[in-house]
Amino acid sequence: MSTTRLAIAVQDNIRPTMRTRLLFHFPQIEGVEFDDTSVLIHAGTPLPADKLTSVVTSVNAHYTAISDRLHTTVVNAPDLVKSDAAAIRAAAQRLIAQVEATEQSVYDEVLVPQRGVNLYAGRSAATVRAIDDFLRTLAELAYDATEVRVPSMLSADVVDRAGYFDTGCQHLSFVAPMTTDLETFESFLPYWRSGDGHDQLHRFLRTPTNVLNPALCLHAYPMMAGRPADGTVLTMSGSCFRDESGNLNNRERLREFTMREAIFFGDQASLGATHPRLVATMAAIAELFGFKYQLSTATDIFFNDSAQAQLFSQLVSDSKIELLVQVDDGGPVAVASINKHGQHFTKPFGITDGDGTTPSTICMAFGLDRMLLALRGVTRLSDHLRQGLARIGGQA
Ligand SMILES: [Zn+2]
Repeated sequence: MSTTRLAIAVQDNIRPTMRTRLLFHFPQIEGVEFDDTSVLIHAGTPLPADKLTSVVTSVNAHYTAISDRLHTTVVNAPDLVKSDAAAIRAAAQRLIAQVEATEQSVYDEVLVPQRGVNLYAGRSAATVRAIDDFLRTLAELAYDATEVRVPSMLSADVVDRAGYFDTGCQHLSFVAPMTTDLETFESFLPYWRSGDGHDQLHRFLRTPTNVLNPALCLHAYPMMAGRPADGTVLTMSGSCFRDESGNLNNRERLREFTMREAIFFGDQASLGATHPRLVATMAAIAELFGFKYQLSTATDIFFNDSAQAQLFSQLVSDSKIELLVQVDDGGPVAVASINKHGQHFTKPFGITDGDGTTPSTICMAFGLDRMLLALRGVTRLSDHLRQGLARIGGQA
């Protein structure tokens, strides 16, 4: 074990961010410690002190000024609208029936094929499917949402136009297909089997033009360009990808995970009425699943130079509200969020209402892997959900 000591003081409230950033850039780090005057970094082999120093000083410079704002505000859920309560109860009854039908299966396994990638078999797979079906049914019953089945990749141009390169660029994965050049291709297999560690692999690949979904709702905006958006509600589920490097685990930080989203288009007035309904719905879903939870405004940390401005604007409004759930053997995990986008997506994609005005959007997103994680330790899920349904005034 090799330890590097950097004589740089890091404030208490920046330390979690500092640890995350160090593990992102140096996944081989095995531990990070702080004292009043320095940072101690442990790894199997010595790490380049100059590169470590530049990460630590850069994070210090970006976050010191705003660190006192790095706290969240608890949000109280408004009352559930009657029709939404009825929709949740109907969708919950269907969920309970589906869970019950697969609960008898003794086979259940969560496999870990690699860091940040999970594979679910048996009851866990059935549970993820049933929760996804519950959320889709709810979006259809409460909002007459249209289901959209989305692919796992989209054009990098679309992702850039959506502003994602400015905020989440460091987590993107490009998709590089095999070369179409015959000669290069013919030398590929001999190279692959030559056993040199594949560090020249890129020579056999084409320049990527696609990225793996960083967020599902990015599929919704190009789709809605050129057609009247008035009051459209879409729902989609699929794989999302975030390469968090050394911060990946096989719990709440996965490289590939499944999301179910609903995306709402509308003018300020109509979305202003939708938002409290969604907050109430998110709380009711937490009650149904028997989560120990809190709704809270979120603080996403962005890596780029406009981080301060973005973080600040996110905190002064309720633009992102998260459902934080206490997981048995760890801290709170954000299981779902409601995001007010304003015209952030509709403007660059030229989306308009029938009268030519630019609508706003909101999305509500649930992480299905994290929901499954939060339900770990529940022995009989159907009974657990029945109790939850009774809490929100229904029965099955
Ligand atoms: Zn979204």
